[in-house]
Amino acid sequence: MIFNIEQVRADFPILQQQIYNRPLVYFDNAASTQKPRQVIDAIRQYYEHDNCNIHRGVHYLSMKATEAYEEARREVQEFVHAKNTCEIIFTKGATESLNLVASSFGKRYIRPGDEIVTSIMEHHSNFVPWQQMCLERGATLRVLGINEHGELDLDVLSGMLNEKTRLIALTHVSNVLGTINPVKEIVTLAHQHDIPVLLDGAQGVSHLPVDVQELDCDFYCFSGHKLYAPMGTGVLYGKEKYLEELPPYQLGGEMIKDVYLDHTTFNELPFKFEAGTPNVEGVMGLRAAIVYLRALGMENIASYEALLLKYATEKLSAVEGIRFYGTSQHKASLVSFLIGAIHPYDAGMIIDKMGIAVRTGHHCAMPLMDSLKIPGTVRASFAFYNTMEEIDQLVSAIARVKEMLS
Ligand code: PLP
Repeated sequence: MIFNIEQVRADFPILQQQIYNRPLVYFDNAASTQKPRQVIDAIRQYYEHDNCNIHRGVHYLSMKATEAYEEARREVQEFVHAKNTCEIIFTKGATESLNLVASSFGKRYIRPGDEIVTSIMEHHSNFVPWQQMCLERGATLRVLGINEHGELDLDVLSGMLNEKTRLIALTHVSNVLGTINPVKEIVTLAHQHDIPVLLDGAQGVSHLPVDVQELDCDFYCFSGHKLYAPMGTGVLYGKEKYLEELPPYQLGGEMIKDVYLDHTTFNELPFKFEAGTPNVEGVMGLRAAIVYLRALGMENIASYEALLLKYATEKLSAVEGIRFYGTSQHKASLVSFLIGAIHPYDAGMIIDKMGIAVRTGHHCAMPLMDSLKIPGTVRASFAFYNTMEEIDQLVSAIARVKEMLS
């Protein structure tokens, strides 16, 4: 055992409950993770002792809250190993981070005839903003396909790049297939053509150690709530040279330097991209979540989750009629599957009644579902607080689904 699982589970109050008279088994971690007591306490601590609007006041509380907020930015910077704190922008989630880049990058760099490259395995949040920006600006969105294991083909990607390609926007880890994309190789390839790369890390940071300088990616986005932190928090990492050049995304307080009747000058990084009062309580929780994860060790988390994935894949492979979607060698800890002709929604309903939370449906990846010619899958996504025994319970629940519906 890499860490003490009982001790870890005791940190998560929500996992202690029974649902339908059974202990809750939570396998919907790719949608949102549960929060340790340390995160919940950090929010309480903030409201009981530090609550105030930040960056504006000269009084004690305002300065204390501001210092804590900027300390959180330093924590995030260290967590993803960004070069500067000014490269860390707080947002309300991966979706907002991705919309910010698509909007500002589009305005600054995209002209009619230009091309953006993305992939068929993207979450709608890293697909629709690019699609709509391309439609508005007369550009073309080019979509890279996958092989039968749910992997991207780098030779095909290489053939798609040309002098019109302005950006590659790809997911680090697929929320449906679990595939961990070879993002370092992709960045190297793209940079040979002077093309910047945005990585959607919504499913990356919670499973893998991420070093944005080592990856050399130009943008990296993620949500706090998938990282054991509160809802409504997120991060955009961007290389300073790009963030300096991009126009602001939202306008208002905080992001200005001086406002005149006929024009406005904008604040320095990162504040240029943080208009209005931010989610300070959420950022306090995000900081506590990162401190918690760093104490466990992202390498340890990745190793333990790899064991969970191996165990689940072996056990579920023995179920007759199961078909996996996403069988890459390089996979994060989730399994997407269908059982015979059973609709994923029906399977999910029965599994739920056995106390197990799995996700069913298209997982916000309709282009991928269309290409696979399926309506959706059942997805069980594991976190470091899950156990092999819980996976055994899922296998039993699937046997019950088959009994009832086959
Ligand atoms: N990208 C990926 C790969 C995701 O899995 C998700 C959420 O499931 C998102 C983006 C969007 O995240 P959020 O809804 O937290 O903004």
